[in-house]
Amino acid sequence: MSQRSHPETAPVQAEITLDGVAVAYSVTFSSRTKYLRLEIAPGTGLVVVLPKGREQDAAVEFLTRRKDWVLRNLARYGPVHVQKGWDNSTRLRYLGRELTVEVRRQGKVDTARLVGNKLVINVVSGLHPEVIIEKWFRLRASKLVLDRVQAQSKKMGVKYNNFHIRAQKTRWASCSAKGNLSFNWKLVMAPGEVIDYVVIHELAHLKELNHSPRFWALVAAYCPSWQKQRKWLRENARRLIVPRNQKQ
Ligand SMILES: [Zn+2]
Repeated sequence: MSQRSHPETAPVQAEITLDGVAVAYSVTFSSRTKYLRLEIAPGTGLVVVLPKGREQDAAVEFLTRRKDWVLRNLARYGPVHVQKGWDNSTRLRYLGRELTVEVRRQGKVDTARLVGNKLVINVVSGLHPEVIIEKWFRLRASKLVLDRVQAQSKKMGVKYNNFHIRAQKTRWASCSAKGNLSFNWKLVMAPGEVIDYVVIHELAHLKELNHSPRFWALVAAYCPSWQKQRKWLRENARRLIVPRNQKQ
C-alpha cells in the first residue's frame, strides 16, 4: 500500500458499509497503475485507486474483500464512524452555550467551524465526526484557556513554566511542583466563569501547592464566586462530553 496517489481525475465520493460500519471513501482512476490499490491518509481519508478503464463497481468488490485491512487501518486514525446514528440532532456545549451539530460531506478535507450556535462538521475522510469535533475543541481550548492563564497570571503576579492542553480522564486541570500547568480540553464546554475559576485555582497552586485555608483565601481574592463555580463543575461534569453515536 503506497502513501500517495496520483489522481488523474477528480475523486468520486462514495460510502460503503463494512461489517455494519459506514465508511466514506473516494475513488480515483489512474493510467499508471495496473492493479486496484487502497490508500489511507489523514487529509484524504480512504482512497481506492482504480486502473483507468475499470468500472467504479470494482471498488465496492475490492473494499468488501479487503474490509479487515480497511477497518483496521481506518481505526488507526481514530474510532471508525458508525454513521447511521448521526442525524444532526446532536447537542454540544461550548462556553456554556448549547450548540447543534450539522454533519456534511463536501469538498476534500475534514473541517469544523462555528456558525452562530451551530458547529458545522464536514467529514470526508471516513473518520468519526467525534474525532473532528474533539480536534476543534482542543484547538479552541489551546487558545481560550491560554488567554485566560496569561491574563490571570499577570493579575495574580505568578509565573508558570509550561502550559498544556490534555485529555485527562479524571481531572480538569493540574499544576506540578515545577510550575507546569495542564488543562483538560473539555473545560471549554463549561461557561467562562467556570474556566476562570479553574485557571485561578491552578495559578494559586503556584504560590500554595496544597488546599490549605491560605490557598482558598488566595483563590477567593481573585474569584469571589469560586464556591458557585466549583459546585457547577461538580454537578455538570457528566454533561461535558462529546456524545457518542446517538442511536446505538
Ligand atoms: Zn487544587
